[in-house]
Amino acid sequence: MRLRNIKGATEAIESSPYCIQKPTEMKGFWKDYIKNDNPIHIEIGMGKGKFLMELASTNPDINYIGIERYTSVLYRAIQKMDENPLPNVKFICIDAGLLPDVFDEKSIDKIYLNFSDPWPKDRHAKRRLTSRQFLECYDKILKNDGTIEFKTDNVDLFNFSLEEAPAAGWKILASTYDLHNDESLNKGNIMTEYEEKFSSMGNPICKMIIRR
Ligand code: SAM
Repeated sequence: MRLRNIKGATEAIESSPYCIQKPTEMKGFWKDYIKNDNPIHIEIGMGKGKFLMELASTNPDINYIGIERYTSVLYRAIQKMDENPLPNVKFICIDAGLLPDVFDEKSIDKIYLNFSDPWPKDRHAKRRLTSRQFLECYDKILKNDGTIEFKTDNVDLFNFSLEEAPAAGWKILASTYDLHNDESLNKGNIMTEYEEKFSSMGNPICKMIIRR
């Protein structure tokens, strides 16, 4: 998702109380900042934040941090938070490759990847958020028993991810090519913006859960 540059988005992010400014200066200071011992869950490539905010409103004892690299997209999430502020949600505007410079080692309990950009060309495989290069980044910040939950409607990206994760040393705990018809994996499922769009077009949704 890449919206056209939106006038004022950068300024809104820089002055938003929901956005963490200078995130690379947070490393080592998260506990002081968050002021609780609740788990931290992050969504990488959160888009406009519907999924994260719905999760956060039903799980007030979890800290949620949304990661999005485009200011124009994050701006939409900030507008939603202005309308309905949630104390357990923060946003960071960075590229996922920088996560190990932002978060403390082994400090994150769960990572969500939803409808990540597919990067279909082989030469762009390392840009996929489920590539071994990104899995290595997540390994640094995720607790040893932490999990990654990944949803997509793109079967090629899903098949790539099902092969890439074990090749990079991760275990597949569960997977399905048809989430919405999988009673067990679909329990409590919260739809993302893209999930609503693609499932309404008849595309089955794939999901996998992995752990090291
Ligand atoms: N997760 C949302 C959903 O399911 O509705 C949005 C999906 S959209 C296809 C993918 C989002 O991931 C875009 O907003 C894009 O800017 C963001 N993104 C892609 N690569 C990223 C990266 N390396 N770091 C941070 N965000 C990224």
